Amino acid sequence: MQRLRARLAGSQGGFGRGLLALLSRDKLDEDTWESIEDTLLTADVGVAPTQQVVDNLRTRLRVEGGESPDPRTVLREELVELVGPDLDRRLRITGEDGRPGVVLVVGVNGSGKTTTVGKIARILVAEDKSVVLGAADTFRAAAVDQLATWGERVGVEVVRGPEGGDPASVAFDAVKSGVDRGVDTVIVDTAGRLQNKAGLMDELGKVKRVIEKQAPVTEVLLVLDATTGQNGLIQARVFSEVVDVTGIVLTKLDGSAKGGIVVAVQRELGVPVKLVGLGEGPDDLAPFDAGAFVDALLG
Ligand code: GDP
Repeated sequence: MQRLRARLAGSQGGFGRGLLALLSRDKLDEDTWESIEDTLLTADVGVAPTQQVVDNLRTRLRVEGGESPDPRTVLREELVELVGPDLDRRLRITGEDGRPGVVLVVGVNGSGKTTTVGKIARILVAEDKSVVLGAADTFRAAAVDQLATWGERVGVEVVRGPEGGDPASVAFDAVKSGVDRGVDTVIVDTAGRLQNKAGLMDELGKVKRVIEKQAPVTEVLLVLDATTGQNGLIQARVFSEVVDVTGIVLTKLDGSAKGGIVVAVQRELGVPVKLVGLGEGPDDLAPFDAGAFVDALLG
């Protein structure tokens, strides 16, 4: 998590540090509380959670004689609580009855889906797991080629179909290959065209149905670009109405000043952030940990 700290601190200074500076002032007057509120809102934490944290901080940092509490300790505790220290963030990558676990990766184009699929494969291979990738984003030839490149790099099979072919058919073939070969995990990259919710619903619904003829989908990861703020939240909502999302991957956290999106999206969807993308490189994906994340924000 050293790297997370360096990345967050490097690009955004972490909104936690701004809060800490405000809370460390000699006098916590109304102007200061307003600035604290603004800092949280600007970081995309959302209105209700912001109010909650400000209320808690006000109560806990009120000095009533005796020793004043340490602002850093109190702030850290409040932010960790906000991020959710007890959420189950484990990836469900293994199947049952000798069948592979199937991870469906969804999200709008450009959010970092294909890159994330490659990075997850790399992590699994490093753990000696066998993996098959399905390039079901058949609408973008570049996406299929990009996944094929990841496959070569990581050393895993990539199942692909003809350009413009049926995504469900590629997903079916990928999972079939995984079942036949007895691999641990099949990861399926999907297309993320959001122009038409009914179309998306049809497509993802069909992809899921054909996969489940062979093995249950064990994890549906929604990939979300952390730099997109409120717009990203709207997209997240649409996807969660179409498929049962079980985890969020927040990408491009290295380039975002809005770490608060972690809080907002978890509240919005009621599912935990499980992984974070911290750059374009193959190793730039990390499991999400509330304490480490808050420490990185505090710098
Ligand atoms: P897709 O269309 O959703 O499959 O998105 P891609 O995987 O093609 O990613 C879109 C762009 O985002 C590419 O240039 C990636 O290298 C970049 N990208 C993906 N994840 C991250 C991340 O965590 N940090 C940064 N800085 N860039 C990322």
